[in-house]
Amino acid sequence: MKSLGYSRRMATLATAAALVVGGLAGCAKEDTGGTTEGGVALIKAGALTTCTHLPYAPFQAPDETGKVVGFDVALVDLVAKKLGVTQEIIDTPFEGIKSGSDLNAGKCDIAAAGMTITDERKQVLDFSDPYFDATQALAVLTGNQVKTLEELAGKRVGVQGGTTGEDYIKTQVEQKSLDIEVVSYKDLAAQQQALATKQVDAAVNDLPVWNEYIKNNVGKVEVAAGFDTGEQYGFAVKKGNAELLKAVNESLAAARADGTYDQIYATWIGAKPTA
Ligand code: GLN
Repeated sequence: MKSLGYSRRMATLATAAALVVGGLAGCAKEDTGGTTEGGVALIKAGALTTCTHLPYAPFQAPDETGKVVGFDVALVDLVAKKLGVTQEIIDTPFEGIKSGSDLNAGKCDIAAAGMTITDERKQVLDFSDPYFDATQALAVLTGNQVKTLEELAGKRVGVQGGTTGEDYIKTQVEQKSLDIEVVSYKDLAAQQQALATKQVDAAVNDLPVWNEYIKNNVGKVEVAAGFDTGEQYGFAVKKGNAELLKAVNESLAAARADGTYDQIYATWIGAKPTA
């Protein structure tokens, strides 16, 4: 009897403790995450938290008011809407995004960064269906006659660190034994600044970002050559986050089907190339 009484009391205490823990978890819900009606777990209740690396116009960059806008932002807004939450964007280095460490650490739910789907990245991230086709492009200051990498012998070429553009140029330099000094910049703004101020003779990045730069800096820079790398962008979620990935893919498919994708494309990228 005595021992039964003891264990009963312990059971009561355990229940009380469980209630306290449950109660605390309830109070902290706002900070520790949430689940949408469709059963998608989010790191922060009421928000779809996006990791990106700014600036990367026209995919994501601050507008005059500081609000981050762009093609990727508009597409992820559709996902947030589907989930009944609001998108919140976090600016963070590209390395942590492409390595999966930001998603794994619970810093964000989704990565949207004009990010190319690659086999290497697929090892550490789960990618959505492709949402954009991209190629690499070599930009030079207007008037520069250079048209090929070979003509840049003895010169400096700027790249953005950690990107497919950097990989592409480094591989070309190595394979063709080109006498080019590859200089890496931490973001697109630094790379474009380096080109504008002639710290480099040419710079390589995804074609749409040069088109956007040229639109806003008429007459300064031109695309000297394109490299058809056949890249496709994907949004990424933490490996195994099948629920969110499904919502992203459904949202993309719906946007493609009802014309929303084309509208967003026209707004941020421009007229679609006719195949
Ligand atoms: N598409 C390129 C890549 O994935 C560049 C992305 C970026 O700089 N935001 O590497």
